[in-house]
Amino acid sequence: MSTPTTTSVWSSLVGQRHVVDTLSRAVDGHGMTHAWLFTGPPGSGRSNAALAFAAALQCPQGGCGDCHTCQTALAGTHPDVSVTRSETAVLYIDDMRELVHRSALAPAQRRWQVMVVEDADRLGERTGNTLLKAIEEPTSKTIWLLCAPTIEDVLPTIRSRCRNVALTTPSAHEVARFLADNDGIPDGLAAFAARASQGHIGRARALARDENTRNRRREVVSLPGGLTTLGACLNAAANLLDIAKDETLAQTDRSNARELTDLDTTYGGDRQAKASRSYRAALKELTHHQTQRERRRVMDVIDRSLMDIMSVYRDAISLQVGGPGVLVNEEVRAQIVDIARRSTPEENLRRIDAIFAARDHMMEYNANREVTLEAMMVRLRIQ
Ligand SMILES: [Zn+2]
Repeated sequence: MSTPTTTSVWSSLVGQRHVVDTLSRAVDGHGMTHAWLFTGPPGSGRSNAALAFAAALQCPQGGCGDCHTCQTALAGTHPDVSVTRSETAVLYIDDMRELVHRSALAPAQRRWQVMVVEDADRLGERTGNTLLKAIEEPTSKTIWLLCAPTIEDVLPTIRSRCRNVALTTPSAHEVARFLADNDGIPDGLAAFAARASQGHIGRARALARDENTRNRRREVVSLPGGLTTLGACLNAAANLLDIAKDETLAQTDRSNARELTDLDTTYGGDRQAKASRSYRAALKELTHHQTQRERRRVMDVIDRSLMDIMSVYRDAISLQVGGPGVLVNEEVRAQIVDIARRSTPEENLRRIDAIFAARDHMMEYNANREVTLEAMMVRLRIQ
C-alpha cells in the first residue's frame, strides 16, 4: 500500500475540491453555521465529508488526519461526535429524541458537540419536528451535520435552516487515481473499478479489492443479453434476487453473529439466563432489528444492480448513436453490441424507464420484489 504524501481528514474525499474549500474555510471561522446539509449521489462520500468536517472541527490542527482526535472522529467513536445511521427505512422518533437530548449537553472536551445524521431523508414529519427545534435553537457549541441524496429529500422546514454542501459524482479518472494512490490498486484494475462503479467510491473499492464482488457484478451485467424468452426473463429476476441476497449475506453474517455474542455476554450466557423472559425479549428485538437491516441492505444491493443493468442499456445507446469509445461495461462488449444490433435507441430508453419504474415501485411503494423484478425483466426482453 502506498502512503499519500500529505494526509489530512480531507484526503478521502475524491473529486470534491469545492467542498473541501468550503469546509476548511468554515473550520477557520469563515461561513461557519450550526446546521449543515451534505447532499450528493450515493457513493459520492457525503457521510465521509460530514465525518471529515467533524474531525476537522475537533482537531486542534484543523484536521491533520493523524492525531487521536481525528482518528476517533473519523471512526465515529469520538465522545463529542455522535453518528446516527439508520439501518431501517425510517429514523425512529425515540432515537431522535435521545439525539436531541444529547446535542444539548456540553461537549466532554472543549470544542464542539457534533451531531451527524446520515439519513436525514428518512426523517418523517414528526421525527423531523423533534429535530427542527434543536436546529432552530442550538446551544452555542452544537453543530448538526445532516446527510441526504438531494435537498428535495429533506423536509423543507429542516433544509431551509441548513447550509447546503453539494457533493458531485467524481469522474472515473479521479476515482481510478484515488484507488491507485490511496489503496495501492494496480492501474488496470483501478481503471476498471472506477468505470464500473460509475463514481461510487465505496463500490469502486469493493470492486477493486474483492474478486467475488467483481464476479457478482459481471453476472448482473450479463443478464440483459440473455433476455430473449419469457422463461429467461423470469429466471433473470430470480437470479438478480439471489445475487442480491448473496451479497447481503456476505455483509451481514458477521455482524449478526457478533451482535448475538454481545447479547449472550450481556446476559451471562448460561442456560438459565437464556430462559429468562428479558433475554427472550431482547433476542426478539435483536432478531427484528437484524431482519429489518437485512431487508434494507438487500434493497440497497438490488438498487445498485438496477443501476448496473441500466448502464448496459446506456452503453448500447452510446454504441447506437456512435458515442465515444470506452463503455462502462467493456467486459461484456460483445453482448452489448448484440443488444445494440437487435434494438433501437428508443427501445433502450424505454428499457431504462422500465428499470426506473420498477425501482420506484419497490423503494417508494414497497411493492413485492419478485413480482416487480419479473415484470421489469419482461419489459427488457429482446424481441
Ligand atoms: Zn488531527
